[in-house]
Amino acid sequence: MTDDLTPHAPLRVIVAGGGVAALETVLALRDLAGDRVATSVLAPAPDYVDRPMTVREPFAFAPARRYTLATLVADMDADLVVDRLAWVDPGTRIVHTTGGQALSYDILVLAMGARLYKRFPHAQTIDDRILDDLFHGLVQDIEGGYVQSVAFVVPERMAWPLPIYELALMMAERAYDTSAQLKITIVTPEDAPLAVFGAGVSQVMQDLLAEAGISLVPRAQADVPSARQVVLKPQNTTIEVDRVVALPELGGPAVRGLPGAAHGFIPVDPYGRVKGVEHVYAAGDATDYPVKHGGIAAQQADTVARTIAAGAGADVKPEPLRAEIHGLLLTGRRPRYFSARAAGAQGFESRVTDTPTWSPPTKVAARYLSEFLQRQDAADVGHST
Ligand SMILES: Cc1cc2nc3c(=O)[nH]c(=O)nc-3n(C[C@H](O)[C@H](O)[C@H](O)COP(=O)(O)OP(=O)(O)OC[C@H]3O[C@@H](n4cnc5c(N)ncnc54)[C@H](O)[C@@H]3O)c2cc1C
Repeated sequence: MTDDLTPHAPLRVIVAGGGVAALETVLALRDLAGDRVATSVLAPAPDYVDRPMTVREPFAFAPARRYTLATLVADMDADLVVDRLAWVDPGTRIVHTTGGQALSYDILVLAMGARLYKRFPHAQTIDDRILDDLFHGLVQDIEGGYVQSVAFVVPERMAWPLPIYELALMMAERAYDTSAQLKITIVTPEDAPLAVFGAGVSQVMQDLLAEAGISLVPRAQADVPSARQVVLKPQNTTIEVDRVVALPELGGPAVRGLPGAAHGFIPVDPYGRVKGVEHVYAAGDATDYPVKHGGIAAQQADTVARTIAAGAGADVKPEPLRAEIHGLLLTGRRPRYFSARAAGAQGFESRVTDTPTWSPPTKVAARYLSEFLQRQDAADVGHST
């Protein structure tokens, strides 16, 4: 079940990435494997960003929290290599970077996230790196009455499920608060809104959309032939609107030297091992797991860390991923909290509450990282008072 490892002590683990999956892996390894592993994080970006909170930025809330990656990684007792993974030679166990470095590993964890692709060139595509720039003007145009109708379009290959519904609800709420006329339509291939999280979540979302006066067109494939038109397939009905907002499509990192699944995602087994290659693991949006969600990325990371720790001789048993999703849904009014658990062929069974059922109630629920970041926040407040 675990890899047959050369007995290096400690095992040299390279974690490629600087997001939820990477940082959760480092923390889980520290807890489960202790000094049996020496971990290095290989990441290009200077910061770790609380990506889900970027959806509030166009509405003039404070920017999403950013943390200096070097500080986080040092506080996790790991090393940081500021560079980018270019390709992997699994035969010699060497990671080659775009900066020309050759880094030896005993274990490699790929946590490089997904790539964003603009599916509809005429739509404004959600990109959390520039969400405020993208949508602040749109929110102002809605408030000023210049934009009176917006279509939100979900492409066939679903990216992160939450942001399109959150943006739509927050825009509807802002229009209501400023007495602006706004007709919002959501066009999605899903059978029901947020269907991937189970019927309980879908029902609540349907009610929230109805309360907010948002129209929903489910089970629809869309095309966006111009900046003001959405064509519904196969009926060929055209919706005319002032603006079209779309989710991106996601693709995997397609790592040279390693096996790949459809659309460049990394194929993993239930223990997080990359299929068809030894000593390489993957977690998060980069993998071929069908649901892209930070909470799942964290659980995949915990699964990977457990498998590695067991292989390193720690007193833990590898366990397959049993995805349990926690979600905090921003609505423009009071938030909703939902939990969903995989229920075999039925997909997810879920329930929604007005108060959180997990702690701390962060938007990305991560066993180790959530509390770790909370402690960083507390220390920062302490320093600034
Ligand atoms: C607007 C928005 C709202 C969201 N809302 C929620 C929510 O409410 N709840 C929730 O759970 N999830 C939410 N998500 C999804 C969540 O943010 C992602 O699922 C999560 O960030 C995935 O984590 P990851 O570590 O796999 O990838 P990422 O967060 O993409 O991190 C990838 C990391 O890898 C680094 N990297 C990239 N290429 C390389 C390379 N070649 N070498 C080394 N490092 C590399 C990047 O710099 C980055 O640090 C939301 C996403 C968005 C965009």
